[in-house]
Amino acid sequence: MSDPIDRSGLTPRFWEKKTISKLTRKEWEALCDGCGKCCLNKLEDDESGEVALTRVACRLLDDETCRCGQYDIRHQFVPDCIVLKPSNIAEHLYWIPETCAYRLVYERKPLFDWHPLISGTADTVHAAGVSMRGRTVSEFDVADDDWEDHIIDEPT
Ligand code: SF4
Ligand code: SF4
Repeated sequence: MSDPIDRSGLTPRFWEKKTISKLTRKEWEALCDGCGKCCLNKLEDDESGEVALTRVACRLLDDETCRCGQYDIRHQFVPDCIVLKPSNIAEHLYWIPETCAYRLVYERKPLFDWHPLISGTADTVHAAGVSMRGRTVSEFDVADDDWEDHIIDEPT
């Protein structure tokens, strides 16, 4: 399957050479590995603040491609979809998946070998078993009160 993110023409290992605030828009977008895990609904414990991941996916997530079905106009359908930026990543770290490249780069950790920027293909994310391909249920099909029946461990 072709990579929907344009990762062409980028400086090799740019993420190791710049701080995240210096990344261009294209570089920032290219960091996304397409795992789909940030598009899962989460449950947050009011008291402990602990976040549990569920396999109940946002209505726009395509379970096969692990991509947003309407990325460019998604806020028309999902107004509260978060736009992750260098300036707000710190406040969102508490829920960002462990393998997410934005977390890894922010924490100055290396990307995994299966990351498309390392492997050269988006297929390796699925082959490594770290994406949500074939693992989600749509939020259309699960009542909010039943999300806790679908809590999962993050595939890593
Ligand atoms: S969790 Fe991170 S790497 Fe995975 S799809 Fe979301 S933004 Fe991209
Ligand atoms: S609107 Fe798109 S990008 Fe936002 S959570 Fe839903 S599927 Fe993901």
